[in-house]
Amino acid sequence: MKNLVLIGPPGSGKGTQSNILVEKKGYAHVSTGDLLRAEVSKGTELGQRIKSVMDLGELVSDDLVVELLKANIDLSSKQYIFDGFPRNVKQAEVLDQEILNGTAYVAVLLDVDIEKLINRIVNRRVSSDGKHIYNLVSNPPRKTGTCDVTGTHLIQREDDKEEVVRNRMDVYLREVGPMIEFYKNKNLLVTIDAEKEIDGVTEQIMNCIN
Ligand code: AMP
Repeated sequence: MKNLVLIGPPGSGKGTQSNILVEKKGYAHVSTGDLLRAEVSKGTELGQRIKSVMDLGELVSDDLVVELLKANIDLSSKQYIFDGFPRNVKQAEVLDQEILNGTAYVAVLLDVDIEKLINRIVNRRVSSDGKHIYNLVSNPPRKTGTCDVTGTHLIQREDDKEEVVRNRMDVYLREVGPMIEFYKNKNLLVTIDAEKEIDGVTEQIMNCIN
């Protein structure tokens, strides 16, 4: 089984598919967004600086993200899903040369309509611990504004607000083209239709990891 690099705009289902593939295939999952949010929640000065970048939907510096990623993976004993990394060609090169460094992998691009995604993300609400995710349109909580499981107030992530989401999409669209070229040139890119239902997307991913 190959390491899996998941590429796709925010909200395209990278996290959902990762969770399923961890269950089904025994992958380890690493999300740089999660690693950064964990750093922010420590409340350190570094965390505050990271938060101010994330709240605007901009990219955190390559060096910092790479350092955080390297410190949190162990490729000698596990196969990974890289979720949210790389975000640009520089990171793709570091992943290829310094991190995966000859280990087999495939880059899967989750192809989806950006406007549909924006609509999905701005309607996303999460429990205060971030663990339970709702959608005001497609998966609303039973009681408005309250988590079904924890009973606590639902919140909107700062970077799920429309203006920020539009910026995150712009950042993605600016960086993704060269990254796709990078993987195409290496013959490592598989593009899949991620507008299908969840199981259908999982199946397409599973077809290209062996
Ligand atoms: P995500 O949870 O993947 O949507 O990431 C949330 C935010 O974390 C992004 O909007 C960026 O500000 C930051 N981030 C996550 N991954 C990276 C990365 N590989 N490089 C730079 N910034 C990142």
